[in-house]
Amino acid sequence: MTDDSQNAPPVIAIRDLHKSYGTLEVLKGVSLEARRGQVVSLIGSSGSGKSTLLRCCNLLENSQQGEIAFNGEAVRWKGHGLDRHPADRAQVTRFRTNLSMVFQQFNLWSHMSVLQNVMEAPVTVLREPAPEVEARARKLLDKVGIGDKAGAWPAQLSGGQQQRAAIARALCMQPTALLFDEPTSALDPELQQEVVRVIKDLAGEHRTMILVTHDMRLAQDVSDHVVFLHQGLIAEEGPPDQLFGAPKTERLRQFLSATM
Ligand code: ADP
Ligand code: MG
Repeated sequence: MTDDSQNAPPVIAIRDLHKSYGTLEVLKGVSLEARRGQVVSLIGSSGSGKSTLLRCCNLLENSQQGEIAFNGEAVRWKGHGLDRHPADRAQVTRFRTNLSMVFQQFNLWSHMSVLQNVMEAPVTVLREPAPEVEARARKLLDKVGIGDKAGAWPAQLSGGQQQRAAIARALCMQPTALLFDEPTSALDPELQQEVVRVIKDLAGEHRTMILVTHDMRLAQDVSDHVVFLHQGLIAEEGPPDQLFGAPKTERLRQFLSATM
């Protein structure tokens, strides 16, 4: 959306990342950067490794080779077995709390109110004072358009409202970047739009985001940079106009004609 972000320092930098599950090599040497204020979208067929790559960013996954840096702080893998993680616990916490993830299946805690869901991590993980967190949480619920649902249980909300609550929950951590994994895929088409609106607002605020999405229009509208993952490798990447308007590889052309 802006070119200023091209010169900003990278918030997330992945270099030559390899990731296998047993004998299945899912990521075969992927490099990716999200600079401060940039929205990077990740597209590709089901099974191409998008979720795996996203989970690697905040160290939810262990890897075998490569490097992941958050704000210049790098975790490196080289010849590590899956039983050994090169990051220490403090580092893992630093990555997780600063890179907030929003999942396809909103994963709200069903035994907590919407407000409690949003407040939970800042209070228990970051140990922030509850009154402060509550004020912030209520503002965020207003921002995503469900301020009136603060006292409701997740089960009383529509899918679109639950996903917006999950976004408010991620924002309440005041993360450096947001990681979205197909945030609209589990929703009926008419409910997708309310979540799309929130994501567009966040992009308009130049928040750093990595967005995995099947919604090519959303990717085209909000991204500064689009990455097309194919069989564990980046097959093509570039600005959205180029990727969607003039794809260079046959693979991407095929993928787009099947999805758009
Ligand atoms: P995408 O999000 O692009 O659909 P994923 O990253 O979820 O792809 O999966 C990539 C590949 O890795 C798929 O073949 C999937 O079956 C496999 N995979 C994902 N998670 C696991 C896991 N925990 N254990 C074994 N295989 C997995
Ligand atoms: Mg996925």
